[in-house]
Amino acid sequence: MILYDDTRCCRGWRLELKMSKKVLIIEDEEGIIHLLSLYLKDAGYEIAVAKDGADGLALHARLHPDIVILDIMLPAIDGFEVCRRIRAWSNTPILMLTARVSEDDRIEGLDLGADDYLVKPFSPRELVSRVRAILRRVGNSEGGESPPSSSSPTSEAATVLRFPGLTIDLPARRVEVNGSEIALTPTEFDLLVLLAQSPGRVFTREILMNKVWGYDYLGDGHTIDVHISALRKKLEANSEQRYITTVWRVGYRFEVKVRSPVS
Ligand code: CA
Repeated sequence: MILYDDTRCCRGWRLELKMSKKVLIIEDEEGIIHLLSLYLKDAGYEIAVAKDGADGLALHARLHPDIVILDIMLPAIDGFEVCRRIRAWSNTPILMLTARVSEDDRIEGLDLGADDYLVKPFSPRELVSRVRAILRRVGNSEGGESPPSSSSPTSEAATVLRFPGLTIDLPARRVEVNGSEIALTPTEFDLLVLLAQSPGRVFTREILMNKVWGYDYLGDGHTIDVHISALRKKLEANSEQRYITTVWRVGYRFEVKVRSPVS
């Protein structure tokens, strides 16, 4: 177990200056740990490493990292289970590493709430750019771009989206269905906001991937389908309403419909 490098010299800096983000790597292969640490430190991140799933969970709980890089094949507790347990209580972005190319594995990871995945062998620079992109979109939606919170109706309307049975609070990244908060992963939240900000507009899978991931995403359209499917399950679990419509062979659009009895 390696703790964060003591490079926290940023205390007291203005918010515009870049704070070191903390990356937790849960991986058992020394070569990969070495490579990831090298590239991520070089990119300005603080690193913590756990070499098995149990250690990873403990470090996650203790250190509250900004993002987790999670291998699937791990001793004792595998990456899927680690992902499931982290998601039970936290929305920390998770980037999964998989040695397998099987679609089932990738879909299982995304289904459990991982935000992205890379298939080994991967380019370390590609990994750093994905980490940066995930942190940027999570940071942007929490950060300085949104107007200051105020009780004026205009600012409330701009930052809280309201639909029948559904409330999306953008600055707080909170979603309520019929008055109860539901826990969405960062990716699910970003997808929902993108769709809900333009009701009726059809988004192709490519547009959703590029907008949500923030770069030309190389994954296939299944990635989006899995995230949308998980998002739908959470939105519709305790609601008569449906919010996301599949546009056959094209993509998705946001519209509020009452669920038909047989569907
Ligand atoms: Ca491994």
